[in-house]
Amino acid sequence: MASESPELPELPELPESPDPTGDRALPAPGPGGGAPCGDPFTHDAGRRLADWFAASARDLPFRKTRDPYAILVSEIMLQQTRVETMLPYYARFLERFPDPFSLAAASEEEVLTLWRGLGYYARGRNLLALARAVCRDHSGRIPDDPAALRALPGIGDYTAGAVLSIAFGRPEPAVDGNVLRVAARLGALEDDILLPSTRRAVTERVRAMTPPDRAAQVCEGLMELGARICLPAAPRCGACPLSACCRAFREGKAEALPVRRRRMPPLVDRLTAFVVEGPEGILLVRRPAGGLLGGMDAVPLRRDVPVRDAPAYMEGLPSGLPDGLLSGAVVRDAGLVRHQFTHRTWEIRVLHVTAGEGPLPPAARLAAALSADDGSDRESDAASDAASENASADGPADSPAARFEPRARLPHRPLPKVVQKILAAADRNEP
Ligand code: SF4
Repeated sequence: MASESPELPELPELPESPDPTGDRALPAPGPGGGAPCGDPFTHDAGRRLADWFAASARDLPFRKTRDPYAILVSEIMLQQTRVETMLPYYARFLERFPDPFSLAAASEEEVLTLWRGLGYYARGRNLLALARAVCRDHSGRIPDDPAALRALPGIGDYTAGAVLSIAFGRPEPAVDGNVLRVAARLGALEDDILLPSTRRAVTERVRAMTPPDRAAQVCEGLMELGARICLPAAPRCGACPLSACCRAFREGKAEALPVRRRRMPPLVDRLTAFVVEGPEGILLVRRPAGGLLGGMDAVPLRRDVPVRDAPAYMEGLPSGLPDGLLSGAVVRDAGLVRHQFTHRTWEIRVLHVTAGEGPLPPAARLAAALSADDGSDRESDAASDAASENASADGPADSPAARFEPRARLPHRPLPKVVQKILAAADRNEP
């Protein structure tokens, strides 16, 4: 996952097709999965899984290569994204950037434009930073040293494990939500899989079941098992190559596992968004790095105006800003927008501010006045949201931090979804 947190969100599940498993081709399907098997976390179980994967893996483009760069790109694109969604992006991306050198030479805007629609833009930006670091520090080669790989932008334990296993054949576990579920069932583990201690224990168990000569196939086999067979709500134990080794299957509790703690209800942030529009376009500001939408372009946001009081605040806005910054401007309430992040909700009152007779102040001055306490929430538990919702340590290098963006260019900018919603609300509620 991008800037991976210790607790990774579970990957989206793949839908089952009429014959999603290719079960007819499996070497030893059905309850028991072949010869009896004791401990699931052994090389014996790992080899069964590797054999099954070799015989029935789906035909996917990123499985036809051992190019570490192409595998790394696929792993980054698959974070939080379905296989069928990422495939066209993967093809286009590798066609345009076939190696780290071509990617490193690209502008951030070009990369993000190619990424548009895939979401979680931090991944694209981290990939660009990674390519530049690889060209600068590793002669353009993805390093096969675990520490060097983990030191690259956007690479956490999961992605490092996947690349090391699949591209370099090193027995480094890659544990995400799907693998946690599979392992919890294989071992009938009753521990909360969202706890870091459980993740560490599962990592060691996966390591124990990985024969050094089958590292890639065990890694991909676990991913495949989680995506097609050991499904969250209805595990297909009858088609599982590891059912003879699976304690949850033996004990009849596959569907009761894994155990995970009750999720807290999402936090709600109430914010005010300012869509400030003048002859030169709409005011965009750079979000602070390290928080929600970190480093992305957005409209100014602040959280110190209670949504309920927004109309009154709005009336006083032109004179309420320092130095009468917006005096003469027309301020209109454009309604409420809600946006759900992974662990929190933004409820946003949208104010559409249009220039009056006189010119608007410079973008930087307006941005500073309007963006106080802007919801970036750098100190709070938004960290995991920040990791998955476009956070990045570096801002876009290709545009100023605060500027008026011409309307005609907005559709070509990689704006976060929530900002697109805010702009749509301002447009929709035009008088
Ligand atoms: S729960 Fe069923 S599908 Fe999952 S690993 Fe065990 S036997 Fe296989």
